[in-house]
Amino acid sequence: PRDGSADERHESVMVHVRLRPPKPGEKCAWIPSSVNGSLSLEPTLASQRVQQGAAGPFSFDGLLTGSANRPVYISVARPLVRSALDGYDAVVFAYGQTASGKTFTLSGDERGEEQGIIPRAVRDIFRGIRQSSARREYLLRASYLEIWNENVKDLLEPTNVPQVRDDRRKGGKGTFVHPLREEIVTSPGQVRELLARGQANRHVGATDWNERSSRSHTCFKVTIESWERGPDSAGSVFGDSGGGGGGDDSAYLTMPAADASSRLGRKVRVSELCLIDLAGSEKYVSQGSDRRAEGAHINKSLLTLGKVIFALSEKTARANASSAHVPYRDSKLTRILQNSLSGNARVAVVCTINPSPSAVDESLSTLNFAKRVK
Ligand code: ADP
Ligand code: MG
Repeated sequence: PRDGSADERHESVMVHVRLRPPKPGEKCAWIPSSVNGSLSLEPTLASQRVQQGAAGPFSFDGLLTGSANRPVYISVARPLVRSALDGYDAVVFAYGQTASGKTFTLSGDERGEEQGIIPRAVRDIFRGIRQSSARREYLLRASYLEIWNENVKDLLEPTNVPQVRDDRRKGGKGTFVHPLREEIVTSPGQVRELLARGQANRHVGATDWNERSSRSHTCFKVTIESWERGPDSAGSVFGDSGGGGGGDDSAYLTMPAADASSRLGRKVRVSELCLIDLAGSEKYVSQGSDRRAEGAHINKSLLTLGKVIFALSEKTARANASSAHVPYRDSKLTRILQNSLSGNARVAVVCTINPSPSAVDESLSTLNFAKRVK
């Protein structure tokens, strides 16, 4: 943690593969398998010719095949959310081609029947805070941004023109985005409202919404500050919501923005949890020069992300991960995440796979990404 308390030895990057179930009438090109205790995906006979020359077998930390998001949250994100509450930075990525299930995995379905990692993480954070509220006080802030064509858009304040800045002074902020709206949040309901507002702002000014949404990265970040509760502040932070004992929309934290003063003079623990819905990983076919530039940006930022995570995943090289040869600076996304990734952030990647035989080439390339970063 950034407060300098004892460091836990860092685990390697966790990589899960999620195979979207085929839709009615859709064929599935893959057979989940387990060889010598290691999970893999094997192409069906019909799609095996594509496999020629592909660098299988592909193995990973977990293979998820169903529609239920709860087991996905439990195996992919929950451990990271817990460590974020303990003061460690954490980053979760969804990587895959368009329509493979990235948004389903992170946000859930449109009807809210299968909540994704983000709403589950938010609920877990508030639950965790409530459980340790006798000992610690908390302050939560959230921001929501989009990177499109290597430009950062502040989804909570679209009039902002955010830049990525560096503060390399000792004890400085490192790499950060400015200006960027961060809102103090005190209940899961408030976070839901914030996310909906950010989503609505994604549409503004996008002439071709579908195109743009599959070509941009979105990054939802929660910053968790906490400090030991002093004798004077006992009982002042956690108001019971009344009426039904802490329903989902109640204010869990009654700490107003101005009253974070109880943290003055305390050792404040700060951590960030970033949940990132990446741009579609499909190869971009050029359609005129604008599209070509856009496609090149995406390819480059995903390639850079792969290189950066690869550097982090080599356990023995972890110590080198903050050194100059990790190409954080080659893309906006990795620059924005540099503080977390060069520190001791825990990283989880969910690689989502479209089951269709017509998507086998892209699926192979996603599996190769999974293999590379593991
Ligand atoms: P992406 O964000 O990668 O473009 P989506 O998450 O939008 O893809 O998924 C494409 C479609 O497939 C959506 O209609 C979504 O509801 C559905 N879908 C994705 N993953 C699953 C899954 N694991 N189970 C059931 N439906 C899914
Ligand atoms: Mg999506």
